[in-house]
Amino acid sequence: MQKREQLYAGKAKSVYLTDDPDYLILEFRDDTSAFDGEKVEKLARKGMVNNHFNAFIMGKLAAAGIPVHVERLLSDTQSVVKKLDMLPVECVVRNIAAGSLCRRLGVKEGIDLTPPTFELFLKNDALHDPMVNESLAETFGWATAAQLTRMKELTYQVNAVLKKLFADAGMLLVDYKLEFGVFKGEIVLGDEFSPDGCRLWDAETREKLDKDRFRQGLGGVVEAYEAVADRLGIKLPK
Ligand code: ADP
Ligand code: UDP
Repeated sequence: MQKREQLYAGKAKSVYLTDDPDYLILEFRDDTSAFDGEKVEKLARKGMVNNHFNAFIMGKLAAAGIPVHVERLLSDTQSVVKKLDMLPVECVVRNIAAGSLCRRLGVKEGIDLTPPTFELFLKNDALHDPMVNESLAETFGWATAAQLTRMKELTYQVNAVLKKLFADAGMLLVDYKLEFGVFKGEIVLGDEFSPDGCRLWDAETREKLDKDRFRQGLGGVVEAYEAVADRLGIKLPK
């Protein structure tokens, strides 16, 4: 597959066209950002770790019947993915209270959420990714009612698969964000699943093993991501 011109450079990944109009190359960079791009740093190895992590998780989801965009790893920091028409909403499921839920509702971090919550946010850094709902999404044309139903269904399916995967490796899947797009009329999971976009705690100690280490200046960010990968049995290059 031939790499062509860059289509887009986001905060953490760059997207390249290829000679096949149905496929893109997604390049995971070491750039790490938080607070809608206000805090930015380069963390060595993060791009490589997240690329391998994402390919592994997407493979598990595909095996469970969830349509995903990742086709294959191309290099340590690049993957070949289906070219999706991304929908500008982020789907968040929470199993345990943390982050913006605690800030918004004043609930205590760490309480169990039963049933798990589902939230929608508009992907818009300038507006700080405001929380929206299905009515707003439909009215403003961000997604149709049928697309919203499908995204919600797939987001919960992902929860069933990944809660168990992480639990079996001694971790709690606290919450996560998913982005979907449309490929030949079908809703497909896009973007990435990595510790950059989810919260993972050690099941015993509740130590944070995800991007909250960066947000909260705890240090050992990539080391924690690598420890999670190791627990899942992901083989990373030295
Ligand atoms: P951001 O745009 O939030 O800064 P990234 O740095 O992760 O995020 O950039 C990756 C961009 O690529 C995102 O805008 C994401 O929606 C988009 N994207 C992810 N997967 C695909 C795909 N399969 N097809 C098209 N666009 C994608
Ligand atoms: N998340 C993300 N990108 C965003 C917003 C949230 O990947 O733009 C992830 C975040 O890492 C966490 C989950 O979605 O795993 C819920 O995030 P929350 O709403 O608590 O926001 P935060 O406190 O991270 O700003």
